[in-house]
Amino acid sequence: MQAMPEITARRSLIGLSREEMGEEIAALGLEPFRAKQLWQWVYNKGVTDFDHMTTIAKPVRKLLEERFTLERPVAAKDLLSEDGTRKWLLSFEDCNKAETVFIPEEDRGTLCISSQVGCTLTCTFCHTGTQRLVRNLTAGEIVGQVMLARDALDEWPSTEEGRKLTNIVLMGMGEPLYNYENVAKAMRIIMDAEGIAISKRRITLSTSGIVPEIRRTGEELGVNLAISLHAVTDELRNEIVPINRKWPLKELLQSCRDYPGLSNARRITFEYVMLQGVNDSDADARALVRLIEGIPAKINLIPFNPWPGAPYLCSSNNRIRQFSQIVMDAGYASPVRTPRGRDIFAACGQLKSDSERQRRIRPS
Ligand code: SAH
Ligand code: SF4
Repeated sequence: MQAMPEITARRSLIGLSREEMGEEIAALGLEPFRAKQLWQWVYNKGVTDFDHMTTIAKPVRKLLEERFTLERPVAAKDLLSEDGTRKWLLSFEDCNKAETVFIPEEDRGTLCISSQVGCTLTCTFCHTGTQRLVRNLTAGEIVGQVMLARDALDEWPSTEEGRKLTNIVLMGMGEPLYNYENVAKAMRIIMDAEGIAISKRRITLSTSGIVPEIRRTGEELGVNLAISLHAVTDELRNEIVPINRKWPLKELLQSCRDYPGLSNARRITFEYVMLQGVNDSDADARALVRLIEGIPAKINLIPFNPWPGAPYLCSSNNRIRQFSQIVMDAGYASPVRTPRGRDIFAACGQLKSDSERQRRIRPS
């Protein structure tokens, strides 16, 4: 009997580091400069078809196409909010799903990307936290989110002036520092000046406080750091950000004080969700400024975004204003984050995919 034609799983080039691309090119017997050309076609020009790689000879393109794809994650849904925020529900090869959100503002456009499907942590105010971890995203899936957004916004080459997508925040689904290796690899690809070229100054990584990885993030990646603080006593933080039981406030704040490259020009952002009657009193505000004393910082007050079954209410506007005033009087910038994309469930803490459920109903 004739053998069935082999269905070879071609590998997507998206997510390969410079070194890996170099190795693949060498394995094909091609000269090293091809790796650089390929890198630029993939990550800077964002081509989706090998035939568009016009500086590469046709037979070489064919060779590449036989072995690789240029596939991005598939957008299973593409939602546009009335305020211009756009959310993509991405479907990965194994049908797991995660979300990416684009938030256009006057002076910048920020892409909020996910690092995991679900989250192992269980912060009580967070919708993602109710979805158990399904898996870490690969570097390719993390970079793929940026590529998909560039595709959708028609913004290749990445380095052209006037791009709408200028900033990246790792504030989507998941705890990025529990997926450090993939996140770090993805960030190096995204920051590469001959590729997507979004500089470390325009990237912010948000963590709930995985202390041992915070220093590494500063030393190895140098991106901006945001800390999901949300409470000023260990007692409350243990309850609402349970990772605090492992790394309490004292250790967390020490790791912030030690964050490499910190200065007034490069401040740490402390995120603080405003939960009515829970963490929003004047006394909390005063304790907050005492806690972060000496750390170049700004405090981002995030009005709580509700989700079905959430056990909290958002603090009133007056309360938020008063809290913010106390923080500002102590010399810190304290912007109140305007909720964006609430109508499409794209705001902070509202992201949740149905990967968990899908997984359960899939026959094993
Ligand atoms: N896991 C990381 C990054 C993702 S969450 C972290 O926790 O930092 C991005 C931010 O939204 C975090 O500060 C998170 O605490 C906050 N957040 C979560 N749920 C929220 C909600 N329902 N309303 C407002 N902010 C929320
Ligand atoms: Fe996970 Fe961050 Fe949500 Fe906490 S706030 S459950 S760490 S995604």
